[in-house]
Amino acid sequence: MKKGKKLYEGKAKIIFSTNEKNLVIQHFKDDATAFNNKKKMKIDGKGILNNRISEHILNYLGQVGIKNHLVKRINMREQLIKFVEIIPIEFIVRNIATGSLTKRLDIEDGTILENPLIEYCYKKDELGDPLISKEHIFAFNWASKKEIEKIDKYLLRMNDFMIGMFRGIGIKLVDFKVEFGRYKNNGKKEVILADEISPDTCRLWDISSDKKLDKDRFRNNLGNVMEAYQDVARRLGILHEESNIRTIKFPKPRSVKLKKNK
Ligand code: 5GP
Repeated sequence: MKKGKKLYEGKAKIIFSTNEKNLVIQHFKDDATAFNNKKKMKIDGKGILNNRISEHILNYLGQVGIKNHLVKRINMREQLIKFVEIIPIEFIVRNIATGSLTKRLDIEDGTILENPLIEYCYKKDELGDPLISKEHIFAFNWASKKEIEKIDKYLLRMNDFMIGMFRGIGIKLVDFKVEFGRYKNNGKKEVILADEISPDTCRLWDISSDKKLDKDRFRNNLGNVMEAYQDVARRLGILHEESNIRTIKFPKPRSVKLKKNK
């Protein structure tokens, strides 16, 4: 498999074509952005950690029946993924109220929600990804009723699984954001999870101290962003005690040759 041209560059990732129509390469950058791109910074090694953390979680989710875009990680910064048509909605699941929810509705920060709360946001940077209802999704044909039913089931299953996974390593899963896409396979379109899952896209708090181990450290100038991401990776068992991402030499992105998929 050969890496082709750049198809799309987002805030934290770049997508490259490959010589296989249904597959693309996803490159994780070190760029961090917040508040609709108003705050920007490069955080050395963030892309490497997110690539590894996301691979780890997506592999587990695949094993519990959540079909997703990951084919395989191919190097420190890149994954081979299925090419999908992205549904223009950000799906947020919350277990503890914080962030935009507390501001929007004046809910006390840290309120434990009795049941997971699913929110839908229209994915449009120019509008600041506004909150929408299911009726908006159907009125503007952003997704069908059947697709949203499947996604809602996936979201709750993912939430259950990830709450348990993180609880086992002393972390509370406060909330997360994911996107889904339509994958064309043998003429059929199937909705699959098509996003990274990492401290960039989840809120993760230490179970005993409530210390933030996620992108809020960058958003709210709490410092030690990389240390927190490394802590998550270490607890997940994918970063060895002796390794420190700052000491790893990052290879320049280059063409990759892969063995043909079995
Ligand atoms: P909030 O709506 O409270 O700002 O965010 C809720 C959850 O969704 C948080 O885990 C946050 O990290 C994630 N989230 C919301 N919007 C975005 C986004 O545009 N990019 C990323 N990476 N995460 C988001």
